[in-house]
Amino acid sequence: MVSENYKEVRKRVDEACLRAGRDPKEVTLVAVSKTKPCEMIRELMACGVKDFGENYAQELVSKTEEITDPLNWHFIGNLQRNKVKYVVGRACMIHSVSSLKLLQEIQKEAAKKQLIMSVLIEVNIAGEQTKTGLTEEEAVELCRHAEDMDHVSIRGLMTSAPLVENPEDNRAYFHEMNALRMRIDSLHLPNVSMEELSMGMTHDFEIAVEEGATLVRVGTAIFGARDYSHKA
Ligand SMILES: *Cc1c(COP(=O)(O)O)cnc(C)c1O
Repeated sequence: MVSENYKEVRKRVDEACLRAGRDPKEVTLVAVSKTKPCEMIRELMACGVKDFGENYAQELVSKTEEITDPLNWHFIGNLQRNKVKYVVGRACMIHSVSSLKLLQEIQKEAAKKQLIMSVLIEVNIAGEQTKTGLTEEEAVELCRHAEDMDHVSIRGLMTSAPLVENPEDNRAYFHEMNALRMRIDSLHLPNVSMEELSMGMTHDFEIAVEEGATLVRVGTAIFGARDYSHKA
């Protein structure tokens, strides 16, 4: 039962908050529903869950066409510039912005739709070759470019830490992310606020919460393993 799984994960998030002296209300659990059917999403909606995470623009479009209730859809995947138009206006937040060109495209589309798009800047905190995301200094630079982007609101940072055997090994990376968040916040840049920190997945979300995550993105622990074998 996905609702049971969700409650169990939420409980572990709350306990991690208490260990760290944080208010559990500060942490949003985003249920990463990519590749999973709408019935599972509806089961969670029936328990009051509103925050869902999707990686693929087409899947976001089809799910938001099928489920029209007001939900918070978080776009967490790699976003190509030609797909920005499908995501702006549907997602409440784009977690995965890692280039100036992508940010500019989001600004353009949000201006066209007359809305302000909340985004996070993705940081490749462990410098992994296989992953997207900016270095810390590149992230600072990108935030400086938001000055004249009045339809973009940079709300914080996002990272996917390495897949490690022992999640404790990611603690230092999560700690570094929180330090970077505070450093950028102290610059008081226009159109930039740094209240959000999106980090922590199935294997390491408790450590991420202990180190300051405000958004944790959990898929497998809620929905079970993903099956990509039927995908084109
Ligand atoms: C798939 C995905 C998740 C969820 O991963 P799990 O390990 O299944 O919890 C979180 N963040 C991003 C960016 C993802 O692509």
